[in-house]
Amino acid sequence: MKQQTKAIHSKFPSKDAYGSLSMPVYHTAAYEFDDADSMSDAFCGRVLVPDYSRVMNPTVMFLEQKVRDITGAKDVIALTSGMAAISNTFLALTSTGKNIVTSRHLFGNTFGLLVNTLGRFGVETRFTDLTNIEEVKKLVDDNTCCVYLEIITNPQMEVANLKALSEITKAHNIPLVADTTIIPFTAFNASNQGVDIEIVSSTKYLSGGATSLGGLIIDYGNFPEFNRRIRFEMLFNIGAYMTPHAAYMQTLGLETLSVRYAVQSKNALELARKLKTLPAIKRVNYVGLEDNPYHEIACQQFGETAGAMLTIDLESEEACKKFINSLKLIKRATNLFDNKSLAIHPSSTIFGPFSDKQKAEMDILDTTIRLSIGLEDVDDLFDDIKRSLS
Ligand SMILES: *Cc1c(COP(=O)(O)O)cnc(C)c1O
Repeated sequence: MKQQTKAIHSKFPSKDAYGSLSMPVYHTAAYEFDDADSMSDAFCGRVLVPDYSRVMNPTVMFLEQKVRDITGAKDVIALTSGMAAISNTFLALTSTGKNIVTSRHLFGNTFGLLVNTLGRFGVETRFTDLTNIEEVKKLVDDNTCCVYLEIITNPQMEVANLKALSEITKAHNIPLVADTTIIPFTAFNASNQGVDIEIVSSTKYLSGGATSLGGLIIDYGNFPEFNRRIRFEMLFNIGAYMTPHAAYMQTLGLETLSVRYAVQSKNALELARKLKTLPAIKRVNYVGLEDNPYHEIACQQFGETAGAMLTIDLESEEACKKFINSLKLIKRATNLFDNKSLAIHPSSTIFGPFSDKQKAEMDILDTTIRLSIGLEDVDDLFDDIKRSLS
């Protein structure tokens, strides 16, 4: 079956008692066993059947299976949020005295997790320019537990060379971990680019219109103990498994993901081209534009599409706020890849708590507005922006 057919037709692991066409929402905490030995097998992980919904649930397992079918990954673990997927991955990979090599161009809470939370436990984060391979080589040492990156950074839109980074991680026998939230796994295969562990905030494209929070750890099986550690240590001890209700909504979202993404990424490209004609906009940053410095590497790695997030720069922070206040159609909201288009001023919101020095180091400008492009007609989006600028 082709990918889109799999997204619709993955089979349930066992036959539903009533022949339900959608996977039922198993709102249950625990499961009954026929005898003591099968209970022991489940609890000791010898047989993968649900025993308790902190660790396994049929509705969540069905979403995990669908993502496994589509990506070809060895294992997929669904968690309560993108941050749960990221934090559990680091908790599984690192320990006191280890270091993580990454970029300062990170989702704000991932930066906070590394510096504030993991920093308190003696995990060092080494920030570097991941587009400078020689610099990365210098920083990776015997105590490095992984190289971590976002495939298109938000909001700087930087794209590092995944294959070049994976040569470094392979040489050190450590995983290359990538947050691929910005381009869905239906559009490109991260494993073919050398990514060992892929992380997705399924709150975004996958949830199908911002219905629910979720995160996925997509493990390509190059580090055999990793997925077992997530399932048999992290889910047990930390407890951030996805809820069945969220899994149900995200399964529906997954069925239409590639169809919605095709429209949203096309809308983003069309809008980016139109926005370049407006003099009030000083810069349009979208890797899908031919003159973007990362256009070529993005095409090589991700194929034809470049996601549905773009940024525009206006002449001042004041102009940004006026613009945001004037929008009528585009919503003033955070989040990405809702069916509705969204606008936010990252410097005063997501990065508001950061110091000016930190913002400068992260290349967060107070003249930037981030747009997430939805499923509306591009003409209406363009009109809203043009009118708000004037
Ligand atoms: C939203 C987002 C996250 C965090 O995901 P949540 O589901 O909000 O916890 C992480 N990385 C990127 C790139 C994101 O856009």
